[in-house]
Order: sequence, then C-alpha cells, then structure tokens
Amino acid sequence: MQEPVLVLNATYEPINVTAVRRAMVLLLKGVAQAEEMHSSEVHSAAHAHRVPSVIRLLAYRHIPQQSRALSRKNILLRDRNTCQFCGRIFPSSELTLDHVVPRSRGGRSSWENLVACCYRCNNSKGDRTPEEAGFKLARRPRPFTLHTSRQLMRLIGHRDERWRKYLFY
Ligand SMILES: [Zn+2]
Repeated sequence: MQEPVLVLNATYEPINVTAVRRAMVLLLKGVAQAEEMHSSEVHSAAHAHRVPSVIRLLAYRHIPQQSRALSRKNILLRDRNTCQFCGRIFPSSELTLDHVVPRSRGGRSSWENLVACCYRCNNSKGDRTPEEAGFKLARRPRPFTLHTSRQLMRLIGHRDERWRKYLFY
C-alpha cells in the first residue's frame, strides 16, 4: 500500500506522486480516475480493487510553480541524498543541512542557501563559506521547479513502465 502512484492533472500533466492508499481514497471519492493499473488487487470488505499505478484528477487543479515546502526532506530529495561538497551519496540519517553562507554571516534558510551535507564535510567547513573552506559546491542550489520534480518522478517511477508515457522518457 506504500507503492508510489503517479498523479496527473486533468490535462494529463504529471503533478505529484502519492501512495496507493491515498490514491484509492481519491478514486473512491470520485475525485480521480485510474489511467493505469497494476495486475495486483487489494481487497476491502465487499470488493476487490485493482491497484492503481497512474491516476488522473477529474477537475483541473492549479499548481503554483513553487509549491514544495522548504523542508529537510525536500532538500535531501532535491540533492538526491548527495553531499554537495564531497559528492558522495549517504542515507538520510547520515546527512545534515548546511547553510552555504553560514547563518552567523547572515546566510538565510532558503532553497538557495541550504544543501545536503555529510557530517564530515559539515564539521570541516565549520563557520566558513565554501570558498574560505576550499570547498566547491557540486551544483548551485535552486528551488524545486517543475523540471526538478519531473526528474524526481522519473527517479521514483523508474521500475514502473506504465509511468513512462506520461513523463516522456
Ligand atoms: Zn561530504
């Protein structure tokens, strides 16, 4: 029930990824319809339901460009769990968030100033800017954009062939 389900807008534009349980609720409420199904079924009291893989909202929903909340989880997602200084991939528990320009120097907590960072790099960088510490950022940190989210959807859905035609890859 935790399998990812791709959510399309009424216009077939991919807008989100949700879990099967939530997708089933949207289907049962009549808010969305299933576009692609898995062959497996889930059973409720009276019925068997095919497990959805892709669902589409029946009413068009306006999605603001930057609707993703600034959170630790989303920063790690954006940076793909890669320390932005040493370039290595870590489990979330071994990553922290680094203020590129330290807070003590007026650096803000924003998409552009927060990056995923391993504890080792974080300690050795300390209260310095990357330049001062001799570090180079792997990528310039940016807010989530439609482009970034689509890449993430592809990443999440790479095992599900049914997502391909909606994500164009
Ligand atoms: Zn590192």
